[in-house]
Amino acid sequence: MIRPKIILSKCFCQPVRYNGEMVKDEFVEKLKNYVDYIEVCPEFDVGLGVPRKSIIIVKNNGSKRLIQTDTENDLTDKIIKYSQNIIESLKEVDGFLLKANSPSCGVGSAKLYKDGKFISKTYGIFAEKIKEKFYYLPIEDEGRLKNREIREHFLIRIFAFAELRELLKKPEIKKLVDFHTKYKYLLMTYNQKYLKELGQLVADGKLSVSQKLMLYKDRFYLAFLRKPSPSRHINTLLHIIGHIKDRLNSKEKKHIFSLLENYKRGRIDLKVIVELLKNLSYRFDNEYLLCQKYLEPYPDELNV
Ligand code: SF4
Repeated sequence: MIRPKIILSKCFCQPVRYNGEMVKDEFVEKLKNYVDYIEVCPEFDVGLGVPRKSIIIVKNNGSKRLIQTDTENDLTDKIIKYSQNIIESLKEVDGFLLKANSPSCGVGSAKLYKDGKFISKTYGIFAEKIKEKFYYLPIEDEGRLKNREIREHFLIRIFAFAELRELLKKPEIKKLVDFHTKYKYLLMTYNQKYLKELGQLVADGKLSVSQKLMLYKDRFYLAFLRKPSPSRHINTLLHIIGHIKDRLNSKEKKHIFSLLENYKRGRIDLKVIVELLKNLSYRFDNEYLLCQKYLEPYPDELNV
């Protein structure tokens, strides 16, 4: 699989936290083996030392300010300028994995204070600027990735977007057709409307390959914005079962449909059915199904 390029909070790699420590996270450590990453630390990179006094986000006259607690220095403009420079410098990126709870990096998990009291959770200042610009890319922190569904959604997107980025480097119609074929069932799960539109785009006889790819890219990103519901997965699974059902005996069919029912009722994980269908695709040597990204959208080793 193509290695995604992600931006990673530097404190997952080096001891740059305000207290001079580094963050150890089991999933992030594993992920590092499968992605290329650029380390960033807004607070360290703008010249705040290590260790440093902690920073908080304060609501002031309706706007969010980043304040260092001991000196009361307002660091907001500095961090915003840094964020803008990072955004301008990014040429190729498939997603962001930032540090939870940080007033700079937290993805909706930073604390917001007013008049010395905690009032709500919010985006860190750096994370907020990133989100404004790259709203179509996965932006998560390690805290949110403890949730399996959010983690899978993140992984599916970074690996799909990395492959799309590779496709854009050498525009060829055959590669675009193959790409669209591979992503058919994943797209069907995420967004049927975009699956249809993208299919029409690939088949369009008037546009050049480059024009098609430009339009395809934008819609492909948008197709993956929202996590699909279990009913969307069931629809896709039924389509996949349709390819092999004639080769299954009645007991096997009964077993698969009882698994679908159990998944629908939340009694078993989706992965159980996907693995079974993958095995059957191997057994029946069904190349069409085996090329489907739906059955293996990211390396299995990242299933934790
Ligand atoms: S959370 Fe962000 S700003 Fe804080 S140490 Fe980590 S990378 Fe730096």
